[in-house]
Amino acid sequence: MTRVAIIGGGIGGLTAANALTRAGIEVAVYEAAGELKEIGAGVALHPNAMRVLRSIGVEDAVRGIAGRSQWQWTRAWTGRVIARSTPAQQAASFGLTGATVHRADLLDVLAAALPEGIVTLGKRCTEVLPGGDADPPVARFADGSEATADVIIGADGIHSVVRTALFGPDAPRFTGKICYRSVIPAAAVAGKQVNTDGAQWFGPHGTIVVYPLRGTDLLNVVCHYDDDGYRHESWVTECEGAEVLERYGLADHADHPAHLLSGGQKQLLAIAGVLVMRPARIVFDEPTTLLDLVNTRRVARVIEELEQQVVVVTHDLDLLDGFDRVLVVDGGRVVADGAPDSSVGAYRELMVHR
Ligand SMILES: Cc1cc2nc3c(=O)[nH]c(=O)nc-3n(C[C@H](O)[C@H](O)[C@H](O)COP(=O)(O)OP(=O)(O)OC[C@H]3O[C@@H](n4cnc5c(N)ncnc54)[C@H](O)[C@@H]3O)c2cc1C
Repeated sequence: MTRVAIIGGGIGGLTAANALTRAGIEVAVYEAAGELKEIGAGVALHPNAMRVLRSIGVEDAVRGIAGRSQWQWTRAWTGRVIARSTPAQQAASFGLTGATVHRADLLDVLAAALPEGIVTLGKRCTEVLPGGDADPPVARFADGSEATADVIIGADGIHSVVRTALFGPDAPRFTGKICYRSVIPAAAVAGKQVNTDGAQWFGPHGTIVVYPLRGTDLLNVVCHYDDDGYRHESWVTECEGAEVLERYGLADHADHPAHLLSGGQKQLLAIAGVLVMRPARIVFDEPTTLLDLVNTRRVARVIEELEQQVVVVTHDLDLLDGFDRVLVVDGGRVVADGAPDSSVGAYRELMVHR
């Protein structure tokens, strides 16, 4: 009889299987699907998760497939920088750095680290009998087979059959937040410079999180939004890019030249542009810059009066070196206008006093 049977070969099940195997405990994993696979999206592994992955010996492999970024930015929706940190600072605070990975890549690493023959595919558990003093617990499968073990671990996800069998029916509690996810090849974002820093913007009713996957090959974009009315629970429902624009008050901007938009809006247009619109004329400075819904119209008015052909709206100071003229706009007011050096100096001064 197996010592431990794990129902479900997802991230949780395979992590548990690796941990138990390393501890010398015999394990069998039963997975319903015909192959080990994950839906296409990123997952952020914070230092606590990386500590677990280190302890089961897969840290290096995970870092090998992780996204690469220099900075992690946290901003208010107005573009104000709340915090920024480097991987080195994170390591100093937590003892190790986090990582951002594609879920499928993480699952591949976890599966590859297991000895052969531990995972049995195509085994959909239908029931678990907890057993008693004399009887071991039993897992029953849809194909009529059974597995007994000293311990049965339920790792069968949000609609867990194991949990229902042991504790009765339950349903997830809806928090009133929905989330639009997309994974975009960095090469598909128009413009020559793609900023792959990790970034998040916090707004009153929404949050946008962007981070790289597979080095700097892919950008994972997650747009959270408060919506009490949404009742359909799913990880895989698809929607039109236009719905995302509508949510963030960007529907009116669909036909605007992108240089009139702030960075956050361009970022959303990048999503929509790649997914649906493919606008003809678009000037992206970077996909991850400020989400400035409040100041956009004021900034656009200032920009409209300029003679320049190409206008870049950015908080990334390194981009500004090659420009003749740099304006600093604060609350719709031009507070500096001159060569990059003097304007950047004024900008830094402004940020220090925020
Ligand atoms: C797109 C996305 C992004 C996320 N981002 C983050 C993040 O950034 N940070 C974070 O901490 N968390 C994140 N999460 C949540 C986190 O990934 C999940 O909490 C985690 O995957 C749960 O792992 P699990 O192994 O318990 O379940 P799952 O990953 O759902 O795996 C369950 C497995 O069990 C199998 N199974 C189901 N029913 C049965 C059955 N009856 N018999 C046998 N097998 C069965 C399924 O096929 C599946 O393989 C994210 C989730 C998603 C979907």
